[in-house]
Amino acid sequence: MVHKPLKILFVSPEAAPFAKTGGLADVAGALPCALARLGHQVKLVIPRYGSIDGAAYGFKEWLRLEVPSPSGVIPAVIERGALSEAKVPVLAVRHDPFFARASLYGEGGRDYPDNLERFTFFCRAVMELFPRLAQDGWTPDLLHAHDWQSALCMVYPRTLYKPVPEANQLGTVFTIHNIGYQGHFPEADYPKTGLGMDLFTPAGLEFYKKLNLMKGGLLFADRLTTVSPTYSREIQTPEFGFGLEGVVRERADRLVGIVNGIDTDVWDPETDHYLASRYSLAKITGKSVCKMALQQEMHLPVRNVPLLVVISRLSDQKGLDLVADIVPALMTEELQLVLLGSGNPDLEARFRSLYEQWPQKFGLRIGFDDGLAHRIQAGGDLFLMPSRYEPCGLSQLYSVRYGTVPIVRQTGGLADTVAAYGASEMATGFAFKEASAAALLSTIRAALAVYAHPKRWAALMQAGMKTDVSWAKSARAYADLYQQVRALRS
Ligand code: ADP
Repeated sequence: MVHKPLKILFVSPEAAPFAKTGGLADVAGALPCALARLGHQVKLVIPRYGSIDGAAYGFKEWLRLEVPSPSGVIPAVIERGALSEAKVPVLAVRHDPFFARASLYGEGGRDYPDNLERFTFFCRAVMELFPRLAQDGWTPDLLHAHDWQSALCMVYPRTLYKPVPEANQLGTVFTIHNIGYQGHFPEADYPKTGLGMDLFTPAGLEFYKKLNLMKGGLLFADRLTTVSPTYSREIQTPEFGFGLEGVVRERADRLVGIVNGIDTDVWDPETDHYLASRYSLAKITGKSVCKMALQQEMHLPVRNVPLLVVISRLSDQKGLDLVADIVPALMTEELQLVLLGSGNPDLEARFRSLYEQWPQKFGLRIGFDDGLAHRIQAGGDLFLMPSRYEPCGLSQLYSVRYGTVPIVRQTGGLADTVAAYGASEMATGFAFKEASAAALLSTIRAALAVYAHPKRWAALMQAGMKTDVSWAKSARAYADLYQQVRALRS
């Protein structure tokens, strides 16, 4: 499809490198740049969290807004910066009482109690920006919002802000990054949205007597996307829909799955400055240097045995309990295991105790360490990702690029991005269906049998390293979708 350049307002509660809790930030930091490279004009809007180093990123005050709310006007300062690489303008919505906090959404495992006020304010500030952007000669064709925190940006243009011409003519796209997080709030708080009570019904934003912001996004967006085709089907079932499967099914003809890409400026073994030695498909020897360096860093003996690695949030979703279950069995084999992760305190404690039993074979780091994540991707032989559900997943994309063969559970984006050994001529990894320790263990054993044949293993690594996991293809898919939405509204 030939693309007419569009003006796109991209609204996200987090974006790398400014503020990140997960994969959404990577998408919001990279996709606008990929769209700009296709010739589109993109502006990214994020909250101006206190943790963002405004001076380092050159954020400067641009204008002031008075944002209406049912309890009175709330002042906002809009700061302007840029996503450096592609010079995509970034507009950061500042109101320190809401966003200058230690974290993005909550602390100590608890959401901030005023998250509804915080993100309602954020979305209304976006609406209030329209006339100001228009004065600047920039009226967006399209607004693309992400996850529950920005879902009201889908609702307002068709309700509260319908009389504003720039808002009313907008095409809208809403992306579900994880339907497990929906933004539920008590019924009594519903008026804080400023929306009429006529919308608080089971056909509207009500969800079992609660307000559900993601449901608003699902109902009002012109088009819906999620981050892989398989996940787009899964969220239409009770097992994966977290109660919203019926709503998603009703709008299935507006829903499309587009897999995430990776930022190849940041994740490329040929240029990665975190590594002991850089390498590529043509010069693969550097990868063994990285393996030895990783063994040393994790206090493991430097030995030529298969090195299994994990980098993950330790949560139920990621299936890391299955890994903990099989550590004793793995430790009877000729191999080593390295794990970097943090999250669930019980799982952290389980891995610590396993580490104490097998420090000679198991290297453990509890915490969040970006540099070590790069070195593990480079130094490993096999990457384990046994997720119970996985909207897209980025780590398996990094691992194929780094020649570290992934073993994944066949779900969501993992099913779409890893070509399974035995099922594909150009296999890039191994996959199993059942979410059980036994299935994971037998798949690891099958993979180790292939590892014992260097030629077969090299073919797997090469197929992965040759796969295009950049944003180029997916950005074109989004651009095609934007054109369809534009056509709807003009
Ligand atoms: P999710 O967003 O569900 O956590 P993804 O696979 O989409 O999962 O993205 C995870 C990202 O977070 C990857 O960039 C991965 O390298 C990074 N990551 C996860 N845990 C850690 C950790 N403990 N230290 C460093 N990076 C981590």
